[in-house]
Amino acid sequence: MAKHILLTGGAGFIGSWLVRHLLAQPEAYRVTNLDLLTYAGNPDNLLDVASNPRYRFVEGDICDEALVSELMGDVDIVINAAAQTHVDRSISGPGIFIHTNVLGTQVLLESARQKKSASLEKFIQISTDEVYGSLGQTGLFTETSALEPSSPYSSSKASGDLIALSYFKTYGLPVCVTRCSNNYGPNQYPEKLIPLFIQNASNDKAVPVYGDGLNVRDWIHVQDHSAAVFAVIKAGRPGEVYNIGASNEQNNLWITRKILEILEKPDTLIRFVEDRLGHDRRYAIDSHKIQTELGWRPAVDFESGLRQTVQWYLDNPAWIEAVHRRATAEQAKEAHSHGV
Ligand code: NAD
Repeated sequence: MAKHILLTGGAGFIGSWLVRHLLAQPEAYRVTNLDLLTYAGNPDNLLDVASNPRYRFVEGDICDEALVSELMGDVDIVINAAAQTHVDRSISGPGIFIHTNVLGTQVLLESARQKKSASLEKFIQISTDEVYGSLGQTGLFTETSALEPSSPYSSSKASGDLIALSYFKTYGLPVCVTRCSNNYGPNQYPEKLIPLFIQNASNDKAVPVYGDGLNVRDWIHVQDHSAAVFAVIKAGRPGEVYNIGASNEQNNLWITRKILEILEKPDTLIRFVEDRLGHDRRYAIDSHKIQTELGWRPAVDFESGLRQTVQWYLDNPAWIEAVHRRATAEQAKEAHSHGV
């Protein structure tokens, strides 16, 4: 019998790549995708798998105990990729981040525990390198680095990680936590740096670079992230944290210039804007553990991955228009509910 995976947040950027990755495996997994379809959840990300008989979409909230418990039924593996994910939004409105990323994670964990089934093989909590805070000029985050998150987003993720690991220590739930660096690739909501800058620059609009633009991130292609999560599904040891990164540190200004170069646009589109509050200076991941223990390696070279990503956004204007249509409808709904 094919194993059943409950994946949350599968209509988002990383979640949708995970859905495709899982359905493509010879193990013929069944995948149930529980997603609330927030502004970042996009059914268009999954058009290619929608009619796959091993795939099922459920629109709903990971904080909904009754629904989660109903779905947990015959599940073998849980992957929690549902989250509020945009740092800037967490600065302007932290509440929903705590609700989704902390409480939602606990609802899933508790439901998995209540299932009281020894058959739950793994619970994978998808997390981020941002939980470690900021590095100086040198050094790398390892799995034992202190958790020193800076933003409400990263703090909510760190809290989710700790609660997940407590379910391993306290109840023996087979939890693994993955902490990945910054992802890029097709299907990313265009509020994040790379898709936003591609979109602005391709329309000859300014690209807003925070501060001096020298904040460093360690970039990884979303397909490499999916493959790493799959390696953890297959052989990750319960109770362990796995860092995921592609050893590809770049500062924001370099990335911005690279995007402009690919699009053949001038550097005069760059606008330096007031820095983000609490902006972490540098992230860099040591992924030695997952590489040696589980044999995972990143496969996508950054320059070709970035070119392919730029091309994807240029080739998919309908996807971008639909995102904007949904965002406008969402704002109208919100304004209506606030009586504006
Ligand atoms: P995303 O914002 O593109 O997608 C998040 C998805 O979660 C959306 O489909 C949304 O509808 C869904 N969701 C939100 N609240 C929900 C709820 N209450 N119930 C059910 N579904 C809900 O995010 P992403 O970039 O794909 O990130 C996915 C995960 O990976 C997150 O946990 C994030 O912290 C982590 N992560 C992201 C990155 C990155 O660079 N994007 C890097 C490392 C880790």
